[in-house]
Amino acid sequence: MGFSTDAVHGGQEAEPVTGAVMTPIFQTSTYKQDGLGKHRGYEYARTQNPTRGALERNIAVLEKAEHGVAFSSGMSAISAVMHLCKEGDEIVITENVYGGTYRLAERILRDRGLRFAFVDTTDLAAVKASFTAKTKLLFVETPTNPILRVTDIRAVSAFARSRGVLVTVDNTFMSPYFQNPLELGADIVVHSSTKYLNGHSDMVGGVVVTNDTGIADKLRFIQNAVGAVPGPFDCWLALRGTKTLALRMRQHETNARYLAAFLSRHPAVKKIYYPGLESHPEHELAMRQARGFGGIVSIDVGSLDRVRRALERVRVFTLAESLGGVESLICHPATMTHASVPEEFRNRLGITEGLMRLSVGIEDVEDLEADLTQALAF
Ligand SMILES: *Cc1c(COP(=O)(O)O)cnc(C)c1O
Repeated sequence: MGFSTDAVHGGQEAEPVTGAVMTPIFQTSTYKQDGLGKHRGYEYARTQNPTRGALERNIAVLEKAEHGVAFSSGMSAISAVMHLCKEGDEIVITENVYGGTYRLAERILRDRGLRFAFVDTTDLAAVKASFTAKTKLLFVETPTNPILRVTDIRAVSAFARSRGVLVTVDNTFMSPYFQNPLELGADIVVHSSTKYLNGHSDMVGGVVVTNDTGIADKLRFIQNAVGAVPGPFDCWLALRGTKTLALRMRQHETNARYLAAFLSRHPAVKKIYYPGLESHPEHELAMRQARGFGGIVSIDVGSLDRVRRALERVRVFTLAESLGGVESLICHPATMTHASVPEEFRNRLGITEGLMRLSVGIEDVEDLEADLTQALAF
């Protein structure tokens, strides 16, 4: 089946009692058992919920995976993956990773005995050099947030496999519409479903998918044992969101490509980051491993003062954290999404005071262009 057909139907069947075409919201915490030890596959809603099950199967289908496990946020999904490791294990991780992932690693898990090596995963030699006998997991985010550097998933996965190291890819920015890391050799894919999968900025959620039954069993055990499960209504919202994922992603990208071209010629823009531009260092790689370049564009306007003025002027773009919704958002990573990353480290990554990240929505692109034109007239 094609992607859009899978998006609409994958993992979903008409509800058996009433024939409801759309998966209902099973708003219940428990299920009647027919006798001692006799139940219908559902005992308690932390462990199983039909709405959640439909979402898990749906996203697994879109990521070409056998198994999906849903969580209450992208961070709890990432935390569950990290829980596959034990004290003393080392995790090699993309240095320019999502700020929350950095915080989880440095402020929570390091104190509990996991070791992290933050490396530039776009550099295969650096990845190779960072592996030790204790390395258990390679955690890659590509493209990265907000600088949009691209890691060669096939190359790092082949190397990790040769060392018996599991590879996890945070595929939030591309969504399964543009990129399927499992097909490139990764073992596990995580998503913040808060972003493109749901796509309407009205819930928080996460999901992990894999083809490995052993890993899936462990993740389900963690899901149930830790209990960071999404509620049925949020699962239903995400399931409604994935139905239009293909349509939305196409429009996000069309608009982003148009604005990236416009901004790359704009005199107020000192630097632009978008994998779809030929000037991007991994443009060729991005074309090879993904079917598109996504909807995020970052620009450096040179100073915090200019950022402040632009953010005060925007009318169609909204100043807010998050990304991947139908509406265009703009943010200042240094003080917002990446505030928990030390300044020195931030500057080295390119997350300067003048950097702004645009999550390009699906509005009429002429309106977005006009909005940026007036906001960037310094
Ligand atoms: C937002 C985001 C996360 C965290 O997800 P939440 O749903 O906010 O917990 C992780 N990775 C990336 C790339 C993200 O954009």
